[in-house]
Amino acid sequence: MTTLPITDYHIHIRGGMTVEKAIAREEETGIRSAVLENFGREWPLAGNADLEAFIEACSRACAGGRRVPVGIQVNDRDWFSVIAPALRARLDFVLADTMIMGTTAAGKPQRLWLPDVVIDDPDAWMIRYLAHTLQVLDEPISILANPTYLPRCIEARYDGLWTEPRMRQVIAKAVAKGVALEIQAESAFPRLAFLRLAKAMGARFSFGTNNFDDKPKNLSRWLEAIETLDLQPADLWHHT
Ligand SMILES: [Zn+2]
Repeated sequence: MTTLPITDYHIHIRGGMTVEKAIAREEETGIRSAVLENFGREWPLAGNADLEAFIEACSRACAGGRRVPVGIQVNDRDWFSVIAPALRARLDFVLADTMIMGTTAAGKPQRLWLPDVVIDDPDAWMIRYLAHTLQVLDEPISILANPTYLPRCIEARYDGLWTEPRMRQVIAKAVAKGVALEIQAESAFPRLAFLRLAKAMGARFSFGTNNFDDKPKNLSRWLEAIETLDLQPADLWHHT
């Protein structure tokens, strides 16, 4: 589909997806596979024992004689003080999104994609959300997933809320810290205006599917970005 050396850095081992299937997909499509799972208090990898077992299980798998990169998606903002340093050193990448912010009336972390999210004052909310996004970028992460995501209830106000100065703040921090900005299959975020600005500012990009099962997703969003931005190998982020 493209000659770019693409890695899918957002393959969850869940819903029937396995490392073996991720390797088979790589052999079929030529898109390299990297695997991860959610780490956090209310998530499948809830602590260091779970994480160690996950790394052990995934690290035994090889694609084309090469070990499959293994990462995590972090969901608590103190994750880096929870994970044992020796385990963190074994991770090839850490991915985070900004889609959990604040707390619900019941005191649980607010998952912004749930339908019960209500935002009375989008402009005030956006100021907090920008600060939250910059905080996530300050964590020792490798990839910012689904950048500029907005909850469904204010999605239509994207262009007004994501002003150029706000986009510039996010991109500048990602560039300064070497954090990749993800282009996610079947996601409306980020919009092309953000991607264009990011490329002009020297950002690096990563690709992700964010699967919920073992079925392939529609990758037209990746292709649109590759073509529109004329992405070259040097524009892509890779783990080291
Ligand atoms: Zn994910």
